[in-house]
Amino acid sequence: SYSQAFEAAQLLATASCEHDKVVSAVDCILSLVGDKNPEHYFVATQDSGLRAKLREVPCVPVIYGLKNSLFVEQPSCSNVSLLSWMRRSVFIWKIRI
Ligand SMILES: [Zn+2]
Repeated sequence: SYSQAFEAAQLLATASCEHDKVVSAVDCILSLVGDKNPEHYFVATQDSGLRAKLREVPCVPVIYGLKNSLFVEQPSCSNVSLLSWMRRSVFIWKIRI
């Protein structure tokens, strides 16, 4: 149900960056993920350009919405790696403005 999903979403941690100067949301997220995603971030975004860039980084599960459903793109890593990452997941929500 919606309320259960909302309660579950409130348990998720979100990431903050340490940029002193203003950078674009895409550049900020890409810098947090880096080239190996060491913090095991999941990224939720509707930005197809950002999704394409994140596909080049190993083990970055990307979540996007389509027609009232959420999908997770298959990340480019083994299922064992993905499972261990899911145990400590952090979501970055990119808000379209
Ligand atoms: Zn930033």
